[in-house]
Amino acid sequence: IDVHISSAAFTTENFRCFVGIFRDITQQKRSDRLVSENIRMKNDFISTVSHELRTPLFSILGFTGTLLREQDELDRETRMEFISIIHDESKRLSALIEDVLMISRIDSGRVSYKKSELDPSITVSDVCRSLKIRADEKNIDLRLRVCAPMEHIFADQDSLKQVAINIIGNALKFTHSGGVVQVRLSCDAQSLLFSVEDNGPGIPAEDIEKIFEKFFRVERSGEAVDGTGLGLSIVKEIVADHDGTVEVKSIPNQSTVFLVRLPLLMKP
Ligand code: ADP
Repeated sequence: IDVHISSAAFTTENFRCFVGIFRDITQQKRSDRLVSENIRMKNDFISTVSHELRTPLFSILGFTGTLLREQDELDRETRMEFISIIHDESKRLSALIEDVLMISRIDSGRVSYKKSELDPSITVSDVCRSLKIRADEKNIDLRLRVCAPMEHIFADQDSLKQVAINIIGNALKFTHSGGVVQVRLSCDAQSLLFSVEDNGPGIPAEDIEKIFEKFFRVERSGEAVDGTGLGLSIVKEIVADHDGTVEVKSIPNQSTVFLVRLPLLMKP
């Protein structure tokens, strides 16, 4: 409570009177706290993004600098190796910028979803078809099972595609060669169930809550795997904007299942 007491407002013969104003400022304090929390989160985001952008950029600057300075001393094979690193890092930078733009558009409510009635099996089949090349390259068996009857949902087609690409893409990325990625679509009374199961390395129990946080990546030993750590935060936000939920269950060194539920379009 904010209290304001005036200096003597008026005096009578026997009394000196003051005016006191009592204001309940709970609401104002609450909104001030929200604003400063928002500013803190934005600052954290900007510093993490800058840090993430710096890593590939420094690498590009380093290798291009060496190529410019020492081009005559470097043999063709080394030059090609440097150019290939520059190419990969530029791709990483570009993916990172795309993801950052996407997440900031979603966060600030600037994404205009074009929601319409759609058959999710068509969208998910398209995604599986486009990811088949990546699966074949890694000798992963990518299977799609659509359970009948398939109901329609009210969703933004591109966003649903993005959700499927991010989750199936991760399954293909983390599963070892020779593994299996099983995509399933089915419906219960109210929801569409879209699940992606793989028999890859799994996610440690202590990290499972964190994988939807921006820039979080599970630390793994061995071969470095590409990624921005933003894919699942984008999934979570898109799914929430469609009134759905996303869950994950994982058994380390055995399997991981992502399950997305989206409300079915209710027929009048
Ligand atoms: P990234 O760009 O690193 O893939 P994501 O936000 O998509 O970022 O995923 C966050 C982290 O969750 C990944 O770095 C990975 O460690 C873990 N993860 C996601 N999907 C899987 C999966 N199918 N199997 C194992 N780990 C996964």
